[in-house]
Amino acid sequence: MEHIFAGNPLDRGDVIRRDENLLSINSKSENAKYLLMKDLNPLVLFRKNNSLISWKKFDYISKIFSKNILENFIFLGSINGEEFFVLDVSMEEKLILEKDESFCDSREIATELSQGESGILSQARAQLEWHKRTKFCSSCGAETTSHRGGQVRRCLICKMEHFPRTDPVAIMLVYKGEKCILGQTRARQRSGFYSCLAGFIDQGESIEEAVKREVKEESGLIVGNIVYHSSQPWPFPSSLMIGCHAQALTEEINYDEEEMSDVRWFTKKEVNLAINSESSLIKVPGPVAIAHHLIKSWVNGESPKKINL
Ligand SMILES: [Zn+2]
Repeated sequence: MEHIFAGNPLDRGDVIRRDENLLSINSKSENAKYLLMKDLNPLVLFRKNNSLISWKKFDYISKIFSKNILENFIFLGSINGEEFFVLDVSMEEKLILEKDESFCDSREIATELSQGESGILSQARAQLEWHKRTKFCSSCGAETTSHRGGQVRRCLICKMEHFPRTDPVAIMLVYKGEKCILGQTRARQRSGFYSCLAGFIDQGESIEEAVKREVKEESGLIVGNIVYHSSQPWPFPSSLMIGCHAQALTEEINYDEEEMSDVRWFTKKEVNLAINSESSLIKVPGPVAIAHHLIKSWVNGESPKKINL
């Protein structure tokens, strides 16, 4: 299945990125389309149940923004003869928004966009934030500059190349027979909000090892029969959520009180009400998040892809 923030249709243009002169020429062409982002929020055109990214032509933005802003474009990719870029306009005040246009929170607007545009937004947001955080070399501390249309930053002194990072997160629905466990993090204490257990995959660790470790740390349970379900890019700032189902081999919960305020067993019936927003007991994540789909597919008895980990 394709989650929100996946499904980006663009060809990311690995070859064209190597020709920076051509990329610069293309960025000023009639076929260049720009996504403008302010404080990492995309410029969107509201349409009821069908909002769109408000793409801008170079002609239009070149009359508004300074050369400095325009030269800092990030190339996203191309499709059907058009090339797509993202521009950070956080410092620019000159843009006058048209009717129905506004800079929207990426997470809130993503569900209103088409699948493809939510994928493009995911790439654009993650890239812009990475550039903001990588202005200086992590090896020697000197300034870095952007190359290959934003696909690499190179240190001016030691020449080290820094590439956009993606942080893998294991997220898992843990079940045993007709019940599953969901947890509430400290940050959501007393909110009634429960979700799948999740955590960053550690260095030198496989997905299945991370699933076992995270479940053990957060709930005290031992799991086996780990099956891959699907994955979701999550650009806050640059995670890849790797969703699994895992069968609990033990039952007694002993959760980490530093991290979690509650971890509990729920019946299939209780969880089914929650995913349909009909539960008075708990709330669970909505369809924007992979956790929703991990829970839903277990409730519906759907078999995940047969990739046993
Ligand atoms: Zn350096």
